[in-house]
Amino acid sequence: MIPVNEPLLDGNERRYLLECVDQQWISSGGPFVQRFERDFGGYLGLPPGVAVCNGTAAIETALFGLGLRPGDEVIMPSFTIISCALAALRLGATPVLVDIEPGTWCMDVDQLEAAASPSSRVVMPVHVYGHPADMDPVMEFAKASKLSVLEDAAEVHGAEYRSKASGGKWLHCGAIGHAASFSFYANKIVTTGEGGMVVSADPDVLARARSYQNLCFRPERRFYHTELGYNFRMTNLQAAIGVAQLERIDEFVALKRRFGAMYRERLAGIPGVRMQTEHPWGRTVYWMYAIELDPSLGIDAEELARRLKDSGVETRPFFMGLHAQPALQGKIRLLGAGYQRTEHAYRYGLYLPSGMTLTESLVDEVCDRLRAVLR
Ligand SMILES: *Cc1c(COP(=O)(O)O)cnc(C)c1O
Repeated sequence: MIPVNEPLLDGNERRYLLECVDQQWISSGGPFVQRFERDFGGYLGLPPGVAVCNGTAAIETALFGLGLRPGDEVIMPSFTIISCALAALRLGATPVLVDIEPGTWCMDVDQLEAAASPSSRVVMPVHVYGHPADMDPVMEFAKASKLSVLEDAAEVHGAEYRSKASGGKWLHCGAIGHAASFSFYANKIVTTGEGGMVVSADPDVLARARSYQNLCFRPERRFYHTELGYNFRMTNLQAAIGVAQLERIDEFVALKRRFGAMYRERLAGIPGVRMQTEHPWGRTVYWMYAIELDPSLGIDAEELARRLKDSGVETRPFFMGLHAQPALQGKIRLLGAGYQRTEHAYRYGLYLPSGMTLTESLVDEVCDRLRAVLR
């Protein structure tokens, strides 16, 4: 079976982990945590971030950092992981869902106006499968409506967005909004096994985030609390792996883009199969090699996944829209226009083997088998 994902852990990961054990620093108090926060923030041109135990916690911590309050609304795409909705709900806020743009599967920025209400507080674009959401209109809308922007950057370590508003400069995804959350889950471009980070240029946001992930301890008076936080701390062991991974981020991004280009070239010859659009203003990092089938092929993603599995190729389905999640019924605000594009993507989309350990011959094999099962 060609696996859908495998990380590369053959840099300094082992050495740094052994350092933690040898020095007996395994908790969040160890030195790798601060180093990872500094290095990751620095990579994005930002101050040190706030490391947390996973990407879901990073979203919640970032929303708290931005001052989200009970009764507020967070505008987010329906086509995303449930983490986005959970984070808002846990803070007493309501997710408001917009549909996606069909080419990139990222938030449809044309629906922001319709999603806004007097309770709107945060807009949360999600950069999907390695491609940036269209950030200029998001930032413009947020500014006009006095909202904060939280980028869910879990899938775009190293991706860039060319901002017209910044004179055509290429900006790092995660350094455009008022804050961003990253995940370092094992299938992300930089991994710590489980892990996450909140980044921001705003010291107040960072201070609130840092407090939240550490039980809202008060610096001047220990065991005295004026707000409710959580223990979302990252361990030194996780951070040690993160530091080693981050040393190789350019190499990882180059690998992803190289195999992305190979897939793109080979898939272009298979009728009815399309990859994510790469806009001229986006530099994708191809987190996952995602495809969407044309309905004219007469098969959906579920059937294709079954056939590929039988021929030895592992895949993963697309997100099911948040609007359709039974657990969220009655807890989210929906737009009258509906979520046809999210539903279409869910029905016809999946992603192909996307690990760091791919080779050109594996890409060939995947595409050959895909061609064969579609015949
Ligand atoms: C992976 C992911 C998350 C959640 O990260 P975890 O570390 O698994 O909690 C959040 N948002 C998006 C878009 C993701 O892909």
